[in-house]
Amino acid sequence: MRTLIIGAGASGLAAAVTLKRDCPAMDVVLVEKLSEPGRKILATGNGRCNLTNTDISVSWYHGDSSLIYTVLNTFQTEDCLDFFHSLGLLTLEEEGRVYPLSMNAATVRNVLLEEVERLGITVAFDFAVGSIAPGFTVTDKSGERTLHGDFVLLALGGKADAAHGTDGDGYPLLKQLGIRYAPISPSLTALKTDDRIRPLKGLRFRGSAALLDGNDDLIGKEEGELQFTNNGLSGIPAFQLSGDAAVLTKTKTLTAQLDFCPNLPDVAVLDYLEDRRMHGSPDEPVLHLLTGILQEKLARFLLEELGMDADTPVHRLRTEDLASLAEQVKGYKLTVTGTKSFKDAQVTRGGVPVDELVDGTLESRVVPNLWFAGELLNVDGACGGYNLHFAWGSGILAAKEIAQRAENI
Ligand SMILES: Cc1cc2nc3c(=O)[nH]c(=O)nc-3n(C[C@H](O)[C@H](O)[C@H](O)COP(=O)(O)OP(=O)(O)OC[C@H]3O[C@@H](n4cnc5c(N)ncnc54)[C@H](O)[C@@H]3O)c2cc1C
Repeated sequence: MRTLIIGAGASGLAAAVTLKRDCPAMDVVLVEKLSEPGRKILATGNGRCNLTNTDISVSWYHGDSSLIYTVLNTFQTEDCLDFFHSLGLLTLEEEGRVYPLSMNAATVRNVLLEEVERLGITVAFDFAVGSIAPGFTVTDKSGERTLHGDFVLLALGGKADAAHGTDGDGYPLLKQLGIRYAPISPSLTALKTDDRIRPLKGLRFRGSAALLDGNDDLIGKEEGELQFTNNGLSGIPAFQLSGDAAVLTKTKTLTAQLDFCPNLPDVAVLDYLEDRRMHGSPDEPVLHLLTGILQEKLARFLLEELGMDADTPVHRLRTEDLASLAEQVKGYKLTVTGTKSFKDAQVTRGGVPVDELVDGTLESRVVPNLWFAGELLNVDGACGGYNLHFAWGSGILAAKEIAQRAENI
């Protein structure tokens, strides 16, 4: 019996190793479009590979919750660590994020590849699958190469980050096979905003960003290090908000409300400004009121946005001017027009939904003996190791289901 695993990325590699270990008689073939497997793993976690998190729960994910439960019920942090320890990988934790001890993503890929080799798993490189006929016959895009298998696992990822092999090849295959999928959009990418902030390009700050809809209702709020780009906002908090922003900005305009001093309550900022004004010289420029709490470039920008000259002597300020200044510091508003594209995104939102699966499994309801794993499923996670955790976990679960099927035949 042969299983074709389409895609030698995170989920495909974890699946191949698990299947061959559980079912040594199975001929396991990894079919990979690129000339090397696991290329994206090298780019993860800024080259360090944040492979899981010590706090794994459904709340870190977006998509079909029953599908997320199906995977997380079988695969928690300990299971992930056990899997990697079984490959000889040692890990360390930083604020809940788990990395390889080497702090080098290549180590994660290498232990997987060594096990693939040790177990005698075949890898068909430079094989970009273009069609799958039930039964199964898998053909590459040139139509010149074909492979046959009894079972197929679709582990070819989503559409984010085409530079690492994932440019959305899975979706036409799903259509060919008559499998529906939830609409896809980019997630974990920068927000695009109006270009008023262009002068701040490159400026980093610790703050919070709240995403609001047209009625000022809160969609989400994230805190951490943010960075202005020439037309938007980058950094983990912006990334975390981008999945919702990408979907919602298709139909409406959103607002990002930035707090440049999230550790200070609104009233504390106003008190601070009043205190500075009272105790300084009356001829001091208004810019000096902000010196102790904001970077100068940002302070000048916020004053300019209010139509205030940075050199205005503080004795000329009215109480309402101070209130507006405090408001700018605690709730500067920008229009969010969208997000960066799939090319610059880390993950794909949308994909194969739970109602396309046999209850409680990762097997297709409409095409027997066809399984799914990883980002192709309708699940995406937050930054912090959640996407790789789901990829390993779903690959391992699908492999176990295939092994069990093979045993029962
Ligand atoms: C820059 C970056 C950094 C990231 N950092 C992290 C992180 O630190 N932690 C984290 O949890 N997540 C991170 N992610 C997300 C994580 O890498 C993915 O969610 C995860 O790799 C998805 O696993 P997968 O197996 O579904 O797909 P992938 O790992 O994307 O693998 C899919 C494989 O399928 C192959 N393929 C595609 N089409 C075909 C075809 N037609 N025929 C054959 N093969 C094909 C691709 O070449 C690829 O090798 C990051 C993503 C990016 C882009």
